[in-house]
Amino acid sequence: MLQADLHAHTYFSDGTFSPEELAAYAVKQGLGAVALTDHDSIEGWSRMREACQKEGIRFVPGSELTSQWRSKEIHLLAYYPDENHLEFCSNLKKFQQARTLRIHAMTEKLQALGIPLTFDEVIEVANCNSPGRPHVARALVEHGHCRSMDDAFKKYLKKDRPAWAPKFRIQADAAIQLIQKAGGVAALAHPGLLNQDSVVREILELGLDGIECFHSRHSESERLKYRQMAEERGLLTTGGSDCHGRNKGEPLLGKVTVPMEWLDRVEELARSRKQDLTNS
Ligand code: AMP
Ligand code: FE
Ligand code: FE
Ligand code: ZN
Repeated sequence: MLQADLHAHTYFSDGTFSPEELAAYAVKQGLGAVALTDHDSIEGWSRMREACQKEGIRFVPGSELTSQWRSKEIHLLAYYPDENHLEFCSNLKKFQQARTLRIHAMTEKLQALGIPLTFDEVIEVANCNSPGRPHVARALVEHGHCRSMDDAFKKYLKKDRPAWAPKFRIQADAAIQLIQKAGGVAALAHPGLLNQDSVVREILELGLDGIECFHSRHSESERLKYRQMAEERGLLTTGGSDCHGRNKGEPLLGKVTVPMEWLDRVEELARSRKQDLTNS
């Protein structure tokens, strides 16, 4: 039985794979479908769509939006949002502009610390619309200022370190509404990483469509717990590896998968939502 991996990143955010490499690796792993869920971006969609078509697997267009609830960073997976929806696109642009400003803030802090890394050097490494801390870390390594990405995070980029800068996030309820207005399906990403189920339960009341129950960093008991939470509330269940490519050893793609029927339900909800939006 073919399976689907509904959470993966490319070099259009903080992954290392190109869309073509991601699609080819999905085939190698025996997947029947793969979702591209780059952070705050859909820049890779068109190439991924074409690559999946060539490889003969199903492409699931997605994105992982950065939101917040009770000052915690909440990642929301958007599946099948309309790529021409004006408000959705203008919000992605806002995320991306804020991410770019954040790179300025971080390189300024580094320079104040005597590290001569420039904004342009980071942007050259990032080479996408959705730059983030991993790109700053890689630029620090490539320009000889740090020994490793880990070293860069530990010395400068972690939250309590001197070059950290806050990230732009929209409120979780607003993000869910944005995804749904664009005809997409909104799922809470990796709830286990929040380490606070009281907040998870609150977010589940905000009108979500689904919960990412399977994730590389969820234990077996977390999988069960979040499936139960979804079932109790009549929410969809999703899952995926959250593969970032070859950043940390063997790629995760295909190591966490869900049955194709789970994907069918997500796609069906997106389809009926788009139908309702056209009719209203
Ligand atoms: P950002 O969204 O820009 O705040 O960056 C978050 C990303 O940084 C996530 O994808 C993490 O996987 C990555 N990250 C966090 N800590 C480290 C680390 N020590 N080494 C490498 N990547 C990290
Ligand atoms: Fe990431
Ligand atoms: Fe995430
Ligand atoms: Zn992710």
